[in-house]
Amino acid sequence: MTGDDLREACGVFGIWQDPAAFTKAYWGAFSLQHRGQESAGVAVMNEGKIAVAKGMGLLQDAVKLDAALRGSAAISHVRYSTTGESSAMNAQPLLMHTRFGPLALAHNGNLVNHERLRRQLEAEGAIFQGTSDSEVLAHLVARRPESDLATALKEAARQLSGGFAFVVLSREGVFGIRDPLGIRPLVLGRIPGGAWVLASETCAFDMVGAHMMREVEPGELVRITASGVESVRFAERMAERACAFEVIYFARPDSLAQGESMHLKRRLLGKQLALEAPAPADVVVGVPDSSLPAAMGYAEASGLPFDFGLVKNRYIARTFIAPDPEWRAQGVQLKLSAVKEVVEGRRVALIDDSLVRGTTSRHIVRLLRSAGAKEVHMRIASPPYRDPCHYGIDTSRAGELAARHLSLEALTARVGADSLAFLSPEGLMAALGSDRWCLACFGRGYPVPVEEEEDG
Ligand code: SF4
Repeated sequence: MTGDDLREACGVFGIWQDPAAFTKAYWGAFSLQHRGQESAGVAVMNEGKIAVAKGMGLLQDAVKLDAALRGSAAISHVRYSTTGESSAMNAQPLLMHTRFGPLALAHNGNLVNHERLRRQLEAEGAIFQGTSDSEVLAHLVARRPESDLATALKEAARQLSGGFAFVVLSREGVFGIRDPLGIRPLVLGRIPGGAWVLASETCAFDMVGAHMMREVEPGELVRITASGVESVRFAERMAERACAFEVIYFARPDSLAQGESMHLKRRLLGKQLALEAPAPADVVVGVPDSSLPAAMGYAEASGLPFDFGLVKNRYIARTFIAPDPEWRAQGVQLKLSAVKEVVEGRRVALIDDSLVRGTTSRHIVRLLRSAGAKEVHMRIASPPYRDPCHYGIDTSRAGELAARHLSLEALTARVGADSLAFLSPEGLMAALGSDRWCLACFGRGYPVPVEEEEDG
């Protein structure tokens, strides 16, 4: 997928007790940039005060590295909005002044009960700075009667529902909070002999020289202070339901999910797809970059040659990844080119990781045909995407989800392929290796009841 159809909510990073906290939080967020390109920010604790640098756009535009905010603890954030408009007021980290002192907060995910909580809080006099759901946690914490921050955060987290991962910077430490089903990812790492770090993905650890220690458990709050890491449960243990789309598309291939390589898992998806949906083709081509591991797996299992029949233009301006539907169709033509020498006169098995609206796929099939492909057999390394996500992924509205409304025949006609086939939900679970995954968007039911329609 080229990134036009599905967008990750956000990426978060936190570090405690490191003299280069700002720089490491900056580079941590930099390595998570694929999770959100609308706004970015870093918050740094120095002598009991928090300074925040944030703004719209990519991290390099939003925060100048030479801002050199000093401090020994920091959190950072990259954002794509799912709830709340895309504007500077919703850029994170958010800074709140509470009786616990200043708190900075960064959030990935979506709270399905945020509208109700927000209405309640506003009725009690809370004044929100922005329109995102992330502020709800800060207001809940500020109103808790407990005298220590960890307990107040724990009790506030109990009130949240949905898929969420928070990092919170305070005078006493950095906190990490992961939703009770572990829908959104959060991992804990350590720089050897040095600071503890939290991140949405392990690729951020590699960037700052940290080692993966473990995943923050679903329903767990971790408190990182001068005495080390303390674990507090705020929800009962339940069967984990991690977002399967992290593996299919969102996470960087060099990150780990449930301890296993994303790249290798994507290859397995491709292998499984080849077993379920062989194609009468001469060459296997993947949609760069996210579908290449699945295409390699497909080629391995089918015995067909893999080749780079599509190349990505690396120099697309940010405009084309902005959340503006009018630019999407235009953007894909500029993002990808077909390699004539690979596809001309050949039957192409085109592997994509997912199909959401189908408009991107149509453009890609057209590209291959104009480069001389004799036939295009499209194979999707995930099941049909039928239901919108309510846990922090912007999948657009249900009406735009092609597989929800169209038969396989109609979908094949829409994308203009000679044939089209998807990985089955059973095949997806077999490739993922367990049933600890959220598959709600594939019609398998929402693991957290959806209270209300969000506006994202
Ligand atoms: S509904 Fe789909 S995209 Fe949303 S959390 Fe579940 S698997 Fe991920």
